[in-house]
Amino acid sequence: MNNVWVFMEQKQGKLQPIGLELLSECRRKLGKDIPISAVYFGDVLTQKDIETMTYCGADVIISTLDGKLSNYDTHYYTQAVENLMKSERPDVFLIGSTLEGRDLAPRVSARLNTGLTADATILDFEMGDKLLLLATRPALGGNLFATIICENTVPQMATIRPSIFKIEEDKSRTSQVKNVEFHCDTLSKVKVLNSEKLTHKKVELNKAQVIVAGGRGVSNMFPALKEIAQLLGGEVAASRAVVDANIEQKDRLVGQTGTTVHPKVYFASGISGAIQHISGMDKSELIIAVNTDPNALIFDVADVSIIADAKQVLPLVREELKAIVALKNL
Ligand SMILES: Cc1cc2nc3c(=O)[nH]c(=O)nc-3n(C[C@H](O)[C@H](O)[C@H](O)COP(=O)(O)OP(=O)(O)OC[C@H]3O[C@@H](n4cnc5c(N)ncnc54)[C@H](O)[C@@H]3O)c2cc1C
Repeated sequence: MNNVWVFMEQKQGKLQPIGLELLSECRRKLGKDIPISAVYFGDVLTQKDIETMTYCGADVIISTLDGKLSNYDTHYYTQAVENLMKSERPDVFLIGSTLEGRDLAPRVSARLNTGLTADATILDFEMGDKLLLLATRPALGGNLFATIICENTVPQMATIRPSIFKIEEDKSRTSQVKNVEFHCDTLSKVKVLNSEKLTHKKVELNKAQVIVAGGRGVSNMFPALKEIAQLLGGEVAASRAVVDANIEQKDRLVGQTGTTVHPKVYFASGISGAIQHISGMDKSELIIAVNTDPNALIFDVADVSIIADAKQVLPLVREELKAIVALKNL
């Protein structure tokens, strides 16, 4: 029997959207015939969460409830997945490409001796003698899309980026809950002493008149970008490479999977100009780009192209702006 499992991420008992996005996309792609299971770990599972997973596409909810699994723990979660796979190996196992998913998936795939496609953005399935997972991911800086198939081992695993697939609910669906006990006789090497919620004010990039954006090429120069943005009364923004590296928050991402902006000035440093970025900023009134590569695609949309090292340009811009502000304050 072919089946597909989706790992449901929860944080402090709150179901995260990524699992629901994956359930919805699998249900859309697989139709009604292939069973989909939602794998849930935690210390409690509410009726509301059962319904949400069911409406999004789960036929079975495999629930392992244990105090050790209340919050994500590398050791216990890897062990819990491994335990499940000992009794039943699904054809496909999908995990969100989140901070936690990126930690969990490679450990699980190594323990199960199976392949893993990391950071996929498109999912598809092929039904032949067996169910094949076709996981597509960007390669070579987003210039190519590679579809990866790991057909010789099970489960076929992939991590998939969040916020790509739409969550869709069908309230007529039903499911069954399967409770599985957690057997673990070792202690985790990690002890959480305290957790603190970061208070972060959401940025409204779409309203900014001036945007100072940085990409991978200036990933260690964000303090300078922030100073420049402040001097101009603008906001700092980032490419996906920077957000994925956790240098900037998701609400500062510009592009296809971030915010679409149209400021008066878009000052882009160290950004190559991938189509997914350009599509979110090419309506800016004035685009100034700094890049060491004269062939960088960002120059195709730039009004002012500066072919230079941002390490030299940014301090000059900052000092010039400081001088202008000082003059104004005289
Ligand atoms: C489905 C999908 C959705 C996506 N959505 C988005 C999105 O919303 N937004 C987004 O940004 N990306 C998105 N991406 C990713 C996108 O394809 C690119 O991978 C990403 O934009 C690259 O970021 P980057 O330009 O910062 O990095 P790179 O492509 O690595 O470019 C770095 C640039 O910096 C230059 N550089 C290096 N050093 C210096 C220096 N000292 N001074 C000046 N220049 C320097 C290099 O010449 C290079 O051009 C998406 C991809 C996919 C597949």
